[in-house]
Amino acid sequence: MIELDKVAHSYGGGDLLTDVSLRLAPGSFHFLTGPSGAGKSTLLKLCYGELLPSAGQVRLFGRDVRQMTRDDVARSRQRIGVVHQDCQFLDHLSLAENVSLPLTVSGREAEAGDDNLSELLNWVGLSRQADALPPQLSGGERQRAALARAVIMGPDVILADEPTGNVDWEMSLRLMQLLVELNRMGKTILIATHDLNLIRAAKAQVAARVLRIKDRRLHLAGANL
Ligand code: ADP
Ligand code: MG
Repeated sequence: MIELDKVAHSYGGGDLLTDVSLRLAPGSFHFLTGPSGAGKSTLLKLCYGELLPSAGQVRLFGRDVRQMTRDDVARSRQRIGVVHQDCQFLDHLSLAENVSLPLTVSGREAEAGDDNLSELLNWVGLSRQADALPPQLSGGERQRAALARAVIMGPDVILADEPTGNVDWEMSLRLMQLLVELNRMGKTILIATHDLNLIRAAKAQVAARVLRIKDRRLHLAGANL
């Protein structure tokens, strides 16, 4: 699905990431950890073509991002659902409209239908809030709306950047449960988080690999977190 081969990335100074190789196989579940500032968000951006590597190769669905046009990248993005760290919404649109925005923008609104949307909102437990405006939502509701928006296009891969950043433990577990369910439906999942307790909780349910960024490199973390 997504492959990084000896990738480096720099924002202009020295390398932030170096010699990073990673293969997200179909149906796999990965966590990405590392201290704040280690480059987790940067690595996710490399995985969906938002950033280009300064060395090495990134392949999205078998194609080198450097060889892809902007349209090619945009098309690949339809197969990659991203839950952004700051989960921004358009405050003048309802939650339901925000969630379906990717469909509206890509002109696929008609084919998807309202049933799909209400089913999705029901799945994340936000049916009652469908008409609410984003400023009226709690942190946990926003995170679940962001997850719904990331999956509305029916992506093959879901990349989540600190999806449990601003929510309590119970809501973290609930979000994790949703991501585990998506994985059971066959989706490939990569979650950046620094919450080791959450990783431990998830590992009881799913065969997840834990990757850690340390000293600019990506390491496979051992069994004892
Ligand atoms: P993490 O998600 O692990 O906290 P980030 O990938 O967000 O780490 O950032 C890693 C480092 O890169 C930080 O020091 C950050 O300040 C820097 N950085 C992130 N984005 C940019 C950017 N657009 N320009 C310059 N530096 C950046
Ligand atoms: Mg980050």
